[in-house]
Amino acid sequence: MEKSYKGSCLCGETTYSVSGFSQLAANCHCTMCRTFHGAAFGTLVGVSDFKWLSGQQWVKEYVASNGTTRTFCSHCGSSLGFRVKDAPLEQIELAISTFDEDIPVTVDAQIYTSYKANWCPTQENLATFPEGR
Ligand SMILES: [Zn+2]
Ligand SMILES: [Zn+2]
Repeated sequence: MEKSYKGSCLCGETTYSVSGFSQLAANCHCTMCRTFHGAAFGTLVGVSDFKWLSGQQWVKEYVASNGTTRTFCSHCGSSLGFRVKDAPLEQIELAISTFDEDIPVTVDAQIYTSYKANWCPTQENLATFPEGR
């Protein structure tokens, strides 16, 4: 059987599974990721075979002014996903910290660093892109 990896929001109502990962995962310092995640950066990873397992009644989407879609749990507020403009659900990139267990992915870059917060230094061991990669 194919391995699946599960993730969940903070309240545990919203859960999902995937079967695999894109090998690209970057810490994104853009203003929108920072605000959506309430953090120094957001880290998103592309996945295959994304499925909601539970809690779809809590899942809400916010379409930002640039057309990108942010997905979150409306019960606890956890940020869960991101899609580029007009992308279908299967192209969701997931907020990497919502996986329940370790996953076979290593963050390989930091992107949009020209928008980063002054109080957060960049990491010397990661490829750095002032805009997108
Ligand atoms: Zn939740
Ligand atoms: Zn971003």
